[in-house]
Amino acid sequence: MFLSAMPNPTTTAKADLFRKLPSVDELSHSAELAPFVSENGQTAVNDAARAVLARLRNEINANRLDSAAIDLALSGIADAIERQLRVSLSYSLQPVINATGVILHTNLGRAPLAAAALDHIHKTAFTYSNLEFDLESGERGKRDIHVDRLFRKLLNTHVGTAAQACPERSRRGSPDEQRSSISTVVVNNNAAAVLLALNTLAEGGEAIVSRGELVEIGGSFRIPDVMSKSSAILREVGTTNRTRVSDYERAINDKTKLLLRVHRSNFQITGFTEQPSISELAGLARRHNLPLMEDLGSGALFDLRSIGINDEPSVLDSLEAGVDVVTYSGDKLLGGPQAGILSGRSDLISRMRANSLFRALRGDKLIYAALEATLLAYVKRDRDAIPALKMMRLSKEEIASRAEAVAAEISSPKLNIEIVDGESVIGGGAAPSATLPTKLLAITSLKFSVDDISSRLRKTNPSIIARVEEGRVLLDLRTVFPEQDEILKRALLEICNS
Ligand SMILES: *Cc1c(COP(=O)(O)O)cnc(C)c1O
Repeated sequence: MFLSAMPNPTTTAKADLFRKLPSVDELSHSAELAPFVSENGQTAVNDAARAVLARLRNEINANRLDSAAIDLALSGIADAIERQLRVSLSYSLQPVINATGVILHTNLGRAPLAAAALDHIHKTAFTYSNLEFDLESGERGKRDIHVDRLFRKLLNTHVGTAAQACPERSRRGSPDEQRSSISTVVVNNNAAAVLLALNTLAEGGEAIVSRGELVEIGGSFRIPDVMSKSSAILREVGTTNRTRVSDYERAINDKTKLLLRVHRSNFQITGFTEQPSISELAGLARRHNLPLMEDLGSGALFDLRSIGINDEPSVLDSLEAGVDVVTYSGDKLLGGPQAGILSGRSDLISRMRANSLFRALRGDKLIYAALEATLLAYVKRDRDAIPALKMMRLSKEEIASRAEAVAAEISSPKLNIEIVDGESVIGGGAAPSATLPTKLLAITSLKFSVDDISSRLRKTNPSIIARVEEGRVLLDLRTVFPEQDEILKRALLEICNS
């Protein structure tokens, strides 16, 4: 009934066709749609009716409907409206299966939350909570105390010894008060944390940073732009590939307020390079009585050497090396909710909290609940409770045996599945070289193109996101939850049967 090559009807004939269509109002108040109205509300039904009628009008305009076709379409219009309602009233944000092997995939929501985090959100956000209420005194409290107490347990363990190991450090006021007492505040994300720290520590003055660290991090977070928004003046030193302590030292003047180190994240400089160590920078900062801030980005609360990654400093490494304030994300290596975390000398952290920007950037109660539960897992040393950490700790053998179980059930001439060596990527601003050995399901096909296979996987429910490389579709089960293996297998079988 949909005619592809119909002779052009005259304008009057077209007008006759348009006249067959009911108005939005007539349609959405019709008896036939009354059940949808009582279920979904009049506004939603009006919107759906408008969308369906607009589609019909476009078809008439494009000469694709004749009178009989319109009659047919109108007889099924209630179904069309119901379908439209289902689409517009379903969630746009939905779960997907991450088979890319990138553990902290920014486009896929970074770290999946721990079950305990969701449970804590549910218990505390489903009702009222003591978010800013001191249950002892019955007076107003501070929201950051819920997590600061746990960060203290996690970060204060060794810093005291660092202060002793570095006598210069102890001369700056009481080391007990400053160094060996690390405080933490939390804002919405790490971009906000960097903004808050720069504004608090360097507003109206200069912050010295190496040219090699003026990076852009995905999603147009550019260090120079954030710097200018914070009203700190960027003072670049060194060259893209080489910066020495003496470069920083020469740039120090009476306007200097801060030394800044930025983790280069997803960018690497190799070859003829030089960068002072963080403790050399800390020494320089001490000598000139300037604070040293490090934007660590990923911010691990565990030692990545334990999973074979040697070049990613943890938050504790930075603090022990003498950094005064470290900024990092909650949903990268930490494995918690989106948050920006500032840990460091308590006198400086108090200034961050007192800055009026802090109020504008503060995290909400969901962040605090999820973060508190995630941190508690660290305190209890229950790392497997944090999904991202558990994925990082999976052995190649465990992944291989799951991959074999999936592949074993698929024998079809349409898909050729091999199990091959590969690498999972930590992602989330860890260095690009931060990878873990894995086993991949590598799929090729004579019947389907790789783009066709990956698009079919995306169209299953839930969507499966794969990697396409060198003419193969690659599935890395490291980032697939074991209970999702079955769904993945069924999706592959479905492709074989199509
Ligand atoms: C990821 C990252 C940021 C931005 O953090 P968000 O939590 O995404 O706002 C800033 N700096 C560095 C070095 C990063 O890696």
